[in-house]
Amino acid sequence: MVQKGPGALRVTGPLSIREAKLPMTSQNRTSHIRLTSHPEPGGAAARFPIHWGAATPEERGPVIASTTNPADRNVIGAHGGSYSVYRALAISARAMNPAQRPDLTNTHPTAEILPQPQWFEPGKIVSLDPFGHRVAQDFGQWIGEGVDIRPTIAVTKARLNLPEILAAMAGHRLAADGHILHGSGDISVTKIAVDPVWHLPGIAERFGTSENLLRRTLFEQTGGMYPELVTRPDLKVFLPPIGSITAYVIGEVAAIADPGRKLACRVHDECNGSDVFGSDICTCRPYLVHGIEEAVKEAQGGGVGLIVYNRKEGRALGEVTKFLVYNARKRQEGGDSAATYFERTECVAGVQDARFQQLMPDVLHWLGVRKIDRLMSMSNMKYDAMVESGIEIGERVAIPPELIPPDASVEIEAKKAAGYYSPDGTPGDNALKSTVGRDLEKF
Ligand SMILES: [Zn+2]
Repeated sequence: MVQKGPGALRVTGPLSIREAKLPMTSQNRTSHIRLTSHPEPGGAAARFPIHWGAATPEERGPVIASTTNPADRNVIGAHGGSYSVYRALAISARAMNPAQRPDLTNTHPTAEILPQPQWFEPGKIVSLDPFGHRVAQDFGQWIGEGVDIRPTIAVTKARLNLPEILAAMAGHRLAADGHILHGSGDISVTKIAVDPVWHLPGIAERFGTSENLLRRTLFEQTGGMYPELVTRPDLKVFLPPIGSITAYVIGEVAAIADPGRKLACRVHDECNGSDVFGSDICTCRPYLVHGIEEAVKEAQGGGVGLIVYNRKEGRALGEVTKFLVYNARKRQEGGDSAATYFERTECVAGVQDARFQQLMPDVLHWLGVRKIDRLMSMSNMKYDAMVESGIEIGERVAIPPELIPPDASVEIEAKKAAGYYSPDGTPGDNALKSTVGRDLEKF
């Protein structure tokens, strides 16, 4: 049985019996579930309005997605993307206090990422919060006064060590300089994690749809997970439960926005099977590491290298779909063939590719990219998205043929036929039909 109260439902019955066992660690009374379907009188939407694209953090307003004080929330969704679900499990298991707030002491960025003109160009950045790394600086006073404002971007330093880079050093393609590339093969990098923060009107415009239709579709396709998408048109910002972006910068971060310095860049979409486990059905890891090698060379030559890693597993369809597609490809009549590569994906997933590169350039604009001198990507979708968003592209660098694993020729030939950049042109029908992959019996 439920009774309506202002902005909340009182729930009685089995739920309240279960919840009565929970410690009172939250500011919420545990017998109440606070619904977010209606604006609260004097609520955050009025107190902390977000003016997307405004010139200063104060005018723009903070993104408040935390649940420790629901009355302060001015966005839909939760921090951490899909990891918000694990946070819920930790709290359910009583391993975490739901009222916990981060202590941001010493968490500030290791490299300054200063405001760029693109931050304020209307519609240029719609899928991340440009001020997301500066929260502790820009909103420190409010945080001190008890408003739970959290960073959505973090900037740190690391060293990378990859066997392919050691091989490149042994093969004299790369030499240590003791600063960018060390004798041990370590590469010094700045790495930047970016959680998605979507400005819904801007996202709708990017995809050529209406905000209403986008909100409704997001609501329906997440199984009704975020009712405010359809009940709270006053909330324009959504933190979607999807993966983040990581940018790896080799060389000086400030050089990225300097038109006088050369930029080598690879924008890479996650492929766990190849990137981590070395699966040979695609070119993902070899191309990624080639991108890192070229990024090191550019930085050593006085420019800067940038690798953007997007969590978009299996063309953003997920690994289960991806593995089903592998089986459908391998078991079809005639075996795995470049001629039917995209068809098989569409049969299983209903779409050939769900990565939709329209949002991809946002992180580049955030870093101040205006031109890329060397782009290590053959994807026409990525290239078109960058160019359409105003980024000038110099040289396009294809994956060297010797780096293509044997079973991955099906993928690369199919992609070339579908419009991927290739210095040797588009493969013909016969070439496509004759490009076949390993049989399932031969693994
Ligand atoms: Zn792959």
